[in-house]
Amino acid sequence: MSKAFDVAVIGAGPGGYVAAIRCGQLGLSTVCIDEWKNPRTGKPSLGGTCLNVGCIPSKALLESSENYERALHKFADHGVKVQGVSMDVAKMIARKDKIVDVSTGGITMLFKKNKVSYLHGRGSFVSTGDAYTLEVKDGGKSETITAKHVIVATGSVPRNLPFAPVDNELILDNAGALDLKEIPKRLGVIGAGVIGLEMGSVWRRLGSEVTILEALPEFLMAADQQVAKEALRLFTKEQGLAIHTGVNIGGVKTTKKFLTIEYTDGKGLAQKLEVDKLIVAVGRQANTQGLGADKVGLRIDDRGRIEADGHCRTNLRNVYAVGDVVRGPMLAHKASEEGVMVAEIIAGQAGHVNLDTVPWIIYTSPEIAWVGKTEQELKAAGVQYKAGQFPFLANGRARALGETAGFVKILADAGTDRILGMHMIGPYVSEMIAEAVVAMEFAASAEDIARIVHAHPALGEVVHEAALGVDKRTLHI
Ligand code: FAD
Ligand code: NAD
Repeated sequence: MSKAFDVAVIGAGPGGYVAAIRCGQLGLSTVCIDEWKNPRTGKPSLGGTCLNVGCIPSKALLESSENYERALHKFADHGVKVQGVSMDVAKMIARKDKIVDVSTGGITMLFKKNKVSYLHGRGSFVSTGDAYTLEVKDGGKSETITAKHVIVATGSVPRNLPFAPVDNELILDNAGALDLKEIPKRLGVIGAGVIGLEMGSVWRRLGSEVTILEALPEFLMAADQQVAKEALRLFTKEQGLAIHTGVNIGGVKTTKKFLTIEYTDGKGLAQKLEVDKLIVAVGRQANTQGLGADKVGLRIDDRGRIEADGHCRTNLRNVYAVGDVVRGPMLAHKASEEGVMVAEIIAGQAGHVNLDTVPWIIYTSPEIAWVGKTEQELKAAGVQYKAGQFPFLANGRARALGETAGFVKILADAGTDRILGMHMIGPYVSEMIAEAVVAMEFAASAEDIARIVHAHPALGEVVHEAALGVDKRTLHI
């Protein structure tokens, strides 16, 4: 007899494991099926891309590399004298691995606490009926279960370039980029998106000469272009990242030890770039491989994603899909909120996720964060708006930190003053963006922010001043 559950969740990334926990909290008998194995230990590892080879390990390396750079170049300003600073890459990677192990292990405990069953293996649809029958395959072993509701949270995988096949020796995807054993002298990156910039920053800080090749004509086209311009200036002129936009890559030739990338640059001129390692970071694609979608008629769109409506309902009754495998930004917090929403809908409650207020963060230094509309989007839509802006240079806390690059910009409706977007580049803006999200969710006006007391001295005062700036009444510039 197959075990029967109220809910089966396929995938234990931030979409799936959070959905499973919330289902458990709501009293639904729940199983979560996940196939991820840690290549280092060979053991099952929960948490999906985010915890194993994404958000968490990348932030660990960003922190380590930033500390190294601080010790090398910033401590002296504070009068802190250090000598013989060097980087132990193996130790940095081991620290990152430990953080991954603690984080993924934590989910096992959360499953126990919330009475979520866990099956390791690949889950796939077998048939529908009163309930769905799923097969869970783990190596040679196989078992079937049934569930009244299914939440598909199978995430995404890196997009490949046919002329640059990833071997994680010379040509790396995100997993390889997080696991280098030594610092490459010359590192190439294809794609100046989020992974390219974060991973490029890590290895540049540790001493690699990093060159990033981007197909699009402008840098960071999804971000507000004023922020993108400032970021490009800081990353290239001050930090020494080489970023070439508008390139067309013709091919990659490899020898045993290095690679040559042939491309035409933004002016159409033929170029060659020789590097010791190459990271391919050209986006990710929804992962529906081996899910058996065809067996039950689960509809996939023309971009390979599971079709889902605003409440993550698929075309099949009682089947939902959340996270990277459906439309919307490929972000962990978006996946998790969709997981919570779906669990609550299954339990008969109301669930809701507002994709218009999902914050974006790029963990470079300085960090970049935004929520809502960019200035170019408002212009394209013909929306009349006012802008207020304030630089970190005029903020006491930023000066004390020695991190004065960047600014906060608030865009508000010209007629109603309602905030339409907030854009930040500067220190710890990953933490500051939450104020912007709260403000937008509560339909705040710029004046609302301007009238709220912001503690002093704090980086948050830059948001306050930017809000005052919308009404042209900044106090400190
Ligand atoms: P995933 O995390 O991809 O999890 C899917 C899980 O399902 C995996 O464990 C997979 O093995 C399993 N699976 C797939 N098919 C099956 C099957 N048939 N049966 C059983 N199991 C299956 N986002 C942020 O918000 N902030 C960040 O800082 C950030 N940094 C990132 C850094 C990197 C290097 C990368 C690659 C991504 C980063 N992301 C970040 C994106 C984030 O990781 C994803 O948006 C998030 O993991 C998506 O969650 P998910 O649950 O939809 O899918
Ligand atoms: P991305 O979409 O952010 O960037 C990919 C870049 O590659 C784009 O700028 C694209 O124009 C470029 N590109 C595509 N094909 C190319 C080609 N042939 N030659 C040169 N350039 C090319 O994707 P990513 O950096 O791979 O990250 C994948 C996803 O992971 C992102 O969508 C993001 O949501 C998520 N992520 C988030 C964070 C974060 O939240 N801090 C960090 C890392 C990853």
